[in-house]
Amino acid sequence: MLKTGFVGYRGMVGSVLMKRMVEEDDFKGFEKIFFSTSQAGKSDVIAGGMSTGIIENAENIDKLKAMDVIVTCQGGSYTEKVYPQLLASGWKGYWIDAASTLRMKDDAIIILDPVNRNVINDALAKGIKCYVGGNCTVSLMLMGIGPLFQNNLVEWLSTMTYQASSGAGAQNMKELLTQMAALGSSAGNMIYDPASAILEVDRLVTEKMRSSDFPVENFKVPLAGSVIPWIDSAYENGQTKEEWKGVAETNKILMTKKQIPIDGICVRIGAMRCHSQGITIKLTKDVPIKDIYDMIAAGNEWVKVVPNEMDVTKKELTPAAVSGTLTIPVGRIRKMNIGNEYLTLYTVGDQLLWGAAEPVRRMLNIVREHLGK
Ligand code: NAP
Repeated sequence: MLKTGFVGYRGMVGSVLMKRMVEEDDFKGFEKIFFSTSQAGKSDVIAGGMSTGIIENAENIDKLKAMDVIVTCQGGSYTEKVYPQLLASGWKGYWIDAASTLRMKDDAIIILDPVNRNVINDALAKGIKCYVGGNCTVSLMLMGIGPLFQNNLVEWLSTMTYQASSGAGAQNMKELLTQMAALGSSAGNMIYDPASAILEVDRLVTEKMRSSDFPVENFKVPLAGSVIPWIDSAYENGQTKEEWKGVAETNKILMTKKQIPIDGICVRIGAMRCHSQGITIKLTKDVPIKDIYDMIAAGNEWVKVVPNEMDVTKKELTPAAVSGTLTIPVGRIRKMNIGNEYLTLYTVGDQLLWGAAEPVRRMLNIVREHLGK
């Protein structure tokens, strides 16, 4: 029986993965062992009331070595520390990872099977054992508009992102809410009174946002009532690391022969777990907009083309509508006034599902299928 180890099952991405595996009845037919860096020896209950059994130490190489497959949502520093030790111990199993550490390694594949199943199949056939989930924003962009790349229609692409607090971690999500609560209460009952003076409400809210007791321990600055136009570390060329991932990971996922230029600005906004992005594409040729609609709609079973109309856009093309679902709406699709080869569109996706846990969950099933288990 295939032995599968789960590391990081109780983190934010790990919990979403466990929930999805229970929903899809993925746990049957293999031996599952749960690992933790802090809970070894205890037992835990995960989604669906399932018991972990006795939890193993996630840093015990001998225990890890006994696994045929290891799925980790533990984080980059864990991967950095443990993966080389496992390889050095002679381990030949499959490593499926949500962290970014190994993504750009030559012998690692970035997984997003609805878009690059051919790349994954080739890699499995070649005996590659390391499969890594992509950057959430990149995965969500490709889930929305993969066919435009596959049909060689993208000369270059610029994406302006509106990224949710969940991308920064669980504590940041909570801090967004404490910031919202602090702002909401700063003007007292005035916010419920239609007759109150709005400039006074605004003054009190802004004062609160700038005060020393405003909760900013995680984001370092206000996010509620504001936006943060910087995500991750700085690169020398002026990009942030998050912006660099757009070009690097998209081209690696698609295994493009010639790099397609991609750039933009990544911005943190006060959404909970859905990233949105406004995308500008220079097409390689003028394609009728109807063909573009059809191509996007046929991309995969989760994508949904939203007509470029006010009511349906406000209802369906938002984090409020998409959060917690696998749906990837793509809307505001139109040719730009700049010229017929310039396309603009907007897409939304749950960054904990297609942006993190879902490609990992599906890869585990692909490995099992490959191994005939
Ligand atoms: P996380 O929530 O911080 O969880 C990571 C680990 O922290 C857990 O597995 C757990 O490990 C430990 N932990 C400590 N206190 C905990 C508590 N109170 N509740 C739950 N776990 C606790 O990390 P994450 O956001 O899931 O991210 C995991 C990896 O996925 C990272 O490499 C991240 O970059 C990557 N990723 C994240 C996202 C995202 O949107 N968040 C998207 C794509 C990829 P022990 O059991 O060992 O203590």
